[in-house]
Amino acid sequence: METITENVKRLLSEVPEGVEIVAAAKTRTADEILEAIEAGVSKIGENYVQEAVSVHELVGEKAQWHFIGHLQSNKVVQVVPIFDMIETVDSAKLARKIDKYAELNNKIMSILIEVNSGREPQKNGVMPEDIEHLIREIAPLPHVKVMGLMTMGPFTGDPEDARPYFVETRRIFNHIKDLNIPKVEMKYLSMGMSNSYKVAIEEGANIIRVGTKLFGERICKFE
Ligand SMILES: *Cc1c(COP(=O)(O)O)cnc(C)c1O
Repeated sequence: METITENVKRLLSEVPEGVEIVAAAKTRTADEILEAIEAGVSKIGENYVQEAVSVHELVGEKAQWHFIGHLQSNKVVQVVPIFDMIETVDSAKLARKIDKYAELNNKIMSILIEVNSGREPQKNGVMPEDIEHLIREIAPLPHVKVMGLMTMGPFTGDPEDARPYFVETRRIFNHIKDLNIPKVEMKYLSMGMSNSYKVAIEEGANIIRVGTKLFGERICKFE
């Protein structure tokens, strides 16, 4: 078995310049996260608020924190103070709530809009045709900054199956970028996980969210 340190160093050497790694750390301990940071990871992704709050207390500002799970609006109050980016915004209502708590925390919260690129009815994220309207609605909020898009895509196990969904998300990304909506800075495209990050990078991802490949198999599978 490889150590977290070895896994991180290998991935860092493999990924092209300009692509940022978010270590997807759900179910991992503060010690595991600290080892990843020590080895060179600078961004930690968390899905669950309670877990994030407790590891954040131990790890703190040694890394930047990305929220990558489904965010319930009653949890925004806990998420805004400790996270640097929320990757999973999928409604104007949620964005308004983030805006309100960001103002109370004296910060401007960077967000990505989550695209339901597979158009799966039971999945989180915004349908591709609704992205532009939603971004135009969120853009004027003073304490929220739209910085790009995130997608999961349907999970099949074969990374090639994910490619069309990454291509579609990239197309929407470019479209929104070309619109030059005031205050919107289309900078980040977050796509790809342990099994699919190579395909995602080929299709333009500049944030990849990698868990298993860095930390090993999760005992408890959430997704
Ligand atoms: C868990 C998770 C990942 C990483 O998954 P792995 O297959 O372990 O790399 C990426 N994105 C999100 C939103 C996740 O919940």
